[in-house]
Amino acid sequence: MSDLEKNLQFAQHYMQQYEGKTLGHFINGAWVTPSACEVFANINPADKSFLCNVASGTADDIGLAAQAAENAFFTWRTMPSKQRRKILHKIADMIEARAQDIAIAESIDTGQVLRFTSKAALRGAENFRFFADKAESARDGLALPVDEKHLNITTRQPIGPVGVITPWNTPFMLSTWKIAPALAAGCTVVHKPAEWSPLSAALLVAIAHEAGLPDGVFNMVQGLGEIAGKSLTEHEAIKAIAFVGESHTGQLIQAQAAPTLKRLHFELGGKNPVIVFNDADFERAVDAAVFMIYSLNGERCTSSSRLLVQEELYDKFTKAVAARAENIKLGHPLDPDSELGPLIHKQHYDKVKNYLSQAEQEGAVCATGGVAQNKPADGFYVRPTLFTKAHNNMRIAREEIFGPVLTAIPFKDEADAIRIANDSDYGLCGYLWTRDIGRAHRIAQALDVGMVWVNSENTRHLPTPFGGMKMSGIGRDGGDYSFDFYMETKNIAIGLDKHKIPKLGA
Ligand code: NAD
Repeated sequence: MSDLEKNLQFAQHYMQQYEGKTLGHFINGAWVTPSACEVFANINPADKSFLCNVASGTADDIGLAAQAAENAFFTWRTMPSKQRRKILHKIADMIEARAQDIAIAESIDTGQVLRFTSKAALRGAENFRFFADKAESARDGLALPVDEKHLNITTRQPIGPVGVITPWNTPFMLSTWKIAPALAAGCTVVHKPAEWSPLSAALLVAIAHEAGLPDGVFNMVQGLGEIAGKSLTEHEAIKAIAFVGESHTGQLIQAQAAPTLKRLHFELGGKNPVIVFNDADFERAVDAAVFMIYSLNGERCTSSSRLLVQEELYDKFTKAVAARAENIKLGHPLDPDSELGPLIHKQHYDKVKNYLSQAEQEGAVCATGGVAQNKPADGFYVRPTLFTKAHNNMRIAREEIFGPVLTAIPFKDEADAIRIANDSDYGLCGYLWTRDIGRAHRIAQALDVGMVWVNSENTRHLPTPFGGMKMSGIGRDGGDYSFDFYMETKNIAIGLDKHKIPKLGA
């Protein structure tokens, strides 16, 4: 039996638990599948086969989950942080122990290939461990004497029950990236995962419960954004919304959350430039450019979807990228050899295909790629695609395609590179390849983005700030930045002696 066959068998076995059932919500420590609830079908993007029915959460379901999170808040925030830390570490251990389930669930749900989803558990566990270790110091503040008569103590406390709304790309890793710091801070959580990737969200909440998280601390409601997601953003008990998704959805959420004046944290879309100068380390720059657009099916917010290459190098560099793109192994997500899988959903596949035809109408040249003809199965497969002869006003250079589609644009010099890179509604991140250290610093300072990688692909370092500018987001995650969002800062001023108090009406 081949590895693919073995994995298919494992997936089939894994999905048996949902046969004839509806994947429901997890509220106040128990699975809830409201009888006669609306459901939607979860489809495997690799071959369009039916995976399971999923409960479509309503405002009432969100109400129950928010109530449970509100009720559990006191218990969780007052639990000694050492004990919270212990539970969060236990969650991390159990995530690692379920790595295979997580990888398979994530691959059949999203179409992401196993070589990446097999790391989802490890990364999710790392998120829990990192924030677990910070739980004990999350409240630490400053003690500042104002003068000899007063002492100010600045401290932090958890903001309350929070809503976490996540997208379908790398759903497991992203959910843990949001939920782990919220729990470490002492907040309780209602999670609304994306409707196209419900499976790993069910696994995460089940693991957290088994690890000993008290009932109501972490609740999960499946459902559609415009119903369940919207209700969560409007609920009075929910004090903050951590949202990862499209910029347009962020705009909707900002309006929905206004009447209850919620704190919002947005990680949104990107159209990130990778800028390659003549003096770049050619091989490494090719490796990084190829990896950052074609890994994870190009469905990643930090993908380097605009390739800006200095004019003299443009032909050589784009030829090298095209050759590598042609070699990428498009395949079934459960095949360990596959490098690129199917796009997640028909709707997304149609959107990406639309950009392919639009690009050619606008005059770009398809150097390689397009819709896959020899597909491994009847799924939503698009080949790694490269458009050359492009300019920055084309839609493929301005809009987030969120697929394996790269737009290559030539530039003249440093000023031109900065101008093109910054000429975007988005400002998530940028990548820069040059051996000139002065130029690297100048450009890194000049880019209007939240993160810059110089002579590197996107590498993750949990203490550093992660987030974007402009239409790419509001706020930062990572390290202490996450606690700034999930916690309120409070100052306590203490009078140390009988200082003079102004008297009125004396
Ligand atoms: P999306 O905005 O369509 O959906 C994200 C989530 O929002 C889903 O759970 C959805 O159900 C919910 N939602 C939709 N409408 C809602 C509403 N009115 N109120 C409340 N919730 C609502 O995004 P997507 O298509 O699932 O994900 C892809 C997007 O996510 C891309 O734009 C990508 O760049 C972005 N993303 C950003 C980052 C980052 O860190 N900046 C990371 C990953 C993904």
